[in-house]
Amino acid sequence: AYGYATVSGRGEKQERVNEVFHRVAERYDLMNDLMSGGLHRAWKAAMVAWLSPPHRPEYRFLDVAGGTGDVAFRIVEATRRRAHGTVLDINASMLAVGAERAIKKKLGENLTFTEGNAEELPLPDNHFDAYTIAFGIRNVPRIGEALKEAYRVLKPGGRFMCLEFSEVDLPVLDKVYDAWSFQAIPRIGEIVARDRESYAYLVESIRRFPNQANFAAAIGEAGFERVDYRNLSGGIAAIHSGWKL
Ligand code: SAM
Repeated sequence: AYGYATVSGRGEKQERVNEVFHRVAERYDLMNDLMSGGLHRAWKAAMVAWLSPPHRPEYRFLDVAGGTGDVAFRIVEATRRRAHGTVLDINASMLAVGAERAIKKKLGENLTFTEGNAEELPLPDNHFDAYTIAFGIRNVPRIGEALKEAYRVLKPGGRFMCLEFSEVDLPVLDKVYDAWSFQAIPRIGEIVARDRESYAYLVESIRRFPNQANFAAAIGEAGFERVDYRNLSGGIAAIHSGWKL
C-alpha cells in the first residue's frame, strides 16, 4: 500500500531508506521517544551495560548506522569519557544532527562522524574493540555483507553487538504490539512528522527482519563465536552479541 512491496532491487531499497531518514532526521529523536514510549532509551542502556566497555582511552569502537549519535554518546559516557568512537551512517542528514548534538554534549573530542555504507565500510581491518549497531541492520539490504564487514574491522578479541526489533514472544503483548505498530505508529508519523508513509515503511521493515534464533545463526555464519542474545520487553527488541576470536 505504501510502495515498499513493489521495491525489488537492493539499490532501490537503500534509496528508499535514505529518503526516509533524510526526511525524518530533524525529528528523529522526538519520534523515537514517542513511538517507543521512551523504551528505546532503556534498550540502548541495556546494550551498553552488556557491552560494559573498559575505561581506557585506547578503547576504540565503531557505531554503525549511528544516526544522531545516541548509542555512541552512551558508550563514551560509560567509559568516563575516555574511549574514542566512530559514528558511521549512510545518511549525511542524520550525521549532521548527531555531530551537532555531540558538540552540545562536549563529546566532540571523543567522536568522529563518518559517512559510509555498512556493507562496505571505509575502514581498516582489525581496528576496533567493539562494533555496535542499533536499529540499523534491518535497513541494510544485504545483512550478510554488513556482518562480514563487522567481522573484518574488529580486532581479534573484538565484540559485535546489535540492538534490533525482534519477535515478540508473549501472546497478549503480541496483539497489543501489532495494534501499536500497524495503527498507532503510522498515525503518530502522520501527525508529528506529517509523514505517514515513512513510518508505515519502518514498521514493515521490522516485520521482515529475521527472528532472534535466525539472526543469531547469521551472525555465526559471518565467523563470530559465542553468539548469544537477550530479549528486551518480551522480545519487542533483542540484543545480539558475538566475538571475533
Ligand atoms: N542507531 C541510531 C539509533 O538507534 O537511534 C539510529 C537508528 S535509525 C532507525 C537507522 C539508521 O540507519 C539511519 O540513520 C540510516 O541512515 C542508517 N542506515 C541505513 N542504511 C544504512 C547503511 N547501508 N549503512 C549505514 N547506515 C545505514
